[in-house]
Amino acid sequence: MSRVPLPQVAPPTGGGRSGPFVRQPRGPDLLAIPGLRRFLRWRYARLTLQLPLLILAIFVIVDGLTGRQLAPRNVATTATWLHYRGLVVVALAILGNAFCGACPLMLTRGPANFVKRRLGIELRWPDRLRNKWLVAALLVGVFYAYEAFDLWASPWLSAWLAIAYFASAFAVDVLFPAGTFCRYVCPLGNFNFLFASVSPTQITAADPDVCRSCADKPCLHGRETYADPARAPGERAFVPLDDVVHANGEGSFPGCETNLFVPTMTSNMDCTSCMNCVRACPYDNVALTVRSPGWELRQAPWRKRWGLPLIALGVMMLYWGLLNAVAMIPPFYDLARGLSAWTGSRNEPFLLALVFAAFTVGGGAASLAAAVTADAAGGAGLHPRRALMRWGYVFVAMGFGFWAAHYLFHFLTGAASIVPVFEHFFAWRGANLDPNWALARWMPSRWMFPISAGVSGAYALLAAYLTVRIALRDFPGTRAATAMWPMLLFVVTLTALQILVLAQPMEMRGTLLGPAG
Ligand code: SF4
Ligand code: SF4
Repeated sequence: MSRVPLPQVAPPTGGGRSGPFVRQPRGPDLLAIPGLRRFLRWRYARLTLQLPLLILAIFVIVDGLTGRQLAPRNVATTATWLHYRGLVVVALAILGNAFCGACPLMLTRGPANFVKRRLGIELRWPDRLRNKWLVAALLVGVFYAYEAFDLWASPWLSAWLAIAYFASAFAVDVLFPAGTFCRYVCPLGNFNFLFASVSPTQITAADPDVCRSCADKPCLHGRETYADPARAPGERAFVPLDDVVHANGEGSFPGCETNLFVPTMTSNMDCTSCMNCVRACPYDNVALTVRSPGWELRQAPWRKRWGLPLIALGVMMLYWGLLNAVAMIPPFYDLARGLSAWTGSRNEPFLLALVFAAFTVGGGAASLAAAVTADAAGGAGLHPRRALMRWGYVFVAMGFGFWAAHYLFHFLTGAASIVPVFEHFFAWRGANLDPNWALARWMPSRWMFPISAGVSGAYALLAAYLTVRIALRDFPGTRAATAMWPMLLFVVTLTALQILVLAQPMEMRGTLLGPAG
């Protein structure tokens, strides 16, 4: 392959029809920040972002398996359940799905491809699993296991969970096409996809007319660019050098592994922030656009692509999030004792399964009732599926608010503990270090409730705003006003319940001393 400088030519101009493919947000493009696009187009940009999390994962596994089995002093438990989860919700609220972009699990892709070539097989992911039901089951399984096995208290189990994650990503990648694990299997990734719907950024096409004239759609299919035509382009598009506007090297650039086509994206769902599209687009026509946090949820974006399973998962996340917090406050133990007396059983996994079932069924039924009542009040008749597809996005906004409030509460109680925990890692192995555990209680406890209640309240306001926008969008005239009230009442009631939960004394999981008074 000969290497020659890539020529700079004008992008294709739109012929015939022009204008956007779909409605996309049109805020500022973050890739215009000096140096950012250049960095993301660099061949090793993603590896650079993945390496810190890979190194952290190695610490998690080593300390979890061989370190001191005291949760607040072990990297496995603190980094996983305190720091990682807290930073995930902060990133989702401010930046978008950054953690998928830096996901170290995808570093198994190279070895998986090697094994795949040796085996010479690639299976088709079953049609029956091409939806979000499996992910919903895995997510509730992880939440259940977290409580049933006290994962937050066990460095050893936390390390094995990390190992299981790497093994699953590798196995699915060996057997199935790239992107299968992210879309259909990964509970963590799907948590991020789901709540990236409230993120203030989204991948869009900078100029839809350039996309319209782009013959090969490399952002989707990937591209091959060589001075001489590629001998075996495979599924990728061969883009002649003359068509490449901004060179970012020559060779092979993968497209979107989760099958998203940039000019038609109205959602962050399934976008792993891998930036393959940025690298593959030969015309620098991919933007990372700033949008309002409610932009995506107002568009009903999942109606066409994933439909009811995804909306159902979005709604259930609200109640599983609530349960995750309720399980740490004193009334939960009264509830468990009552359930035990009622069923005559002292079997903890069984009682916990009952609580999960009660939250899932009860929460689902309450949300459905609110949505159906709103539809009926607006004169849309009684169509439960249609009502949930319309109003479900309101519950997603509330769900993110509560997860963010709860994770932030724990993160802030012990964020600075990362320093003594790492000092302890080396001290445990003979280094002459004296960890400063006072750092584990840097945030005064009196700040916790206002911060977490404020976060929950802010997203409740977003949910109320969405309710009004959806009502005005779907119901004409005064029917909009009658349709929105049942949902607004639901948002207010649930927010009061959430704030009540956050006001309870909460178990200080992950910190030994608790926050400073
Ligand atoms: S984003 Fe780039 S690669 Fe994708 S269709 Fe538009 S111009 Fe083509
Ligand atoms: S290639 Fe696909 S998954 Fe990756 S950033 Fe672009 S749209 Fe998102």
